[in-house]
Amino acid sequence: MSETNDELRDHDGRRGGHLITADCPLDCLAFHISAKAFNPLASELPWLLKRRVTVGDVADMQLRRQLRHIRHLGPRRIGEIELILILTGLISAPRDPPGTAAEASRS
Ligand SMILES: [Zn+2]
Repeated sequence: MSETNDELRDHDGRRGGHLITADCPLDCLAFHISAKAFNPLASELPWLLKRRVTVGDVADMQLRRQLRHIRHLGPRRIGEIELILILTGLISAPRDPPGTAAEASRS
């Protein structure tokens, strides 16, 4: 029984307990979101990005509001993806209503 690559082995997701980071392959999300949310990401993102997709790429797209352009991903699925990204700390929780925080701190 080898102990090498233990961390990498975690990324098959089946052990479920590992912390998701931006460097995780997209597949790590598969065990945390529904297939209806995951499958569109898995089929579209490698094609869009032309490389191996990481969870960080998904977070980045969510921050840029680009997930809505992915086929078969509706607001509800995007909300599901957003939630796991928030839970893992990759993005911060709900956007402030426009024009509140920045302006209130001005004086
Ligand atoms: Zn992982």
